[in-house]
Amino acid sequence: MDDQNTVPSTAAPAPTCTSCGMATSGYKCAVCGEESAAHDQAHACGGENCQPKCEGCGQADSKCTCQQPQTPSSGPTPPPVDTGAAPPAM
Ligand SMILES: [Zn+2]
Ligand SMILES: [Zn+2]
Ligand SMILES: [Zn+2]
Repeated sequence: MDDQNTVPSTAAPAPTCTSCGMATSGYKCAVCGEESAAHDQAHACGGENCQPKCEGCGQADSKCTCQQPQTPSSGPTPPPVDTGAAPPAM
């Protein structure tokens, strides 16, 4: 089996989003939103603004919205788990 298409061991592992820890896909500028496949240290907005793009929300990791509090939906909430076991007499 010639698995030449597997990720080469020499490549650095893809960085994870610093905000939510999710995997990232490519890079995105946190200022202008320009996307690039690789980190662009010479980007017009500054290399530090060319950040890994969060796969969860598609934003630069410093602008990741994955951890934003979600508005509670009006879904049914499961009832509290009741073990039904009698408390041990002490
Ligand atoms: Zn994220
Ligand atoms: Zn930019
Ligand atoms: Zn995100």
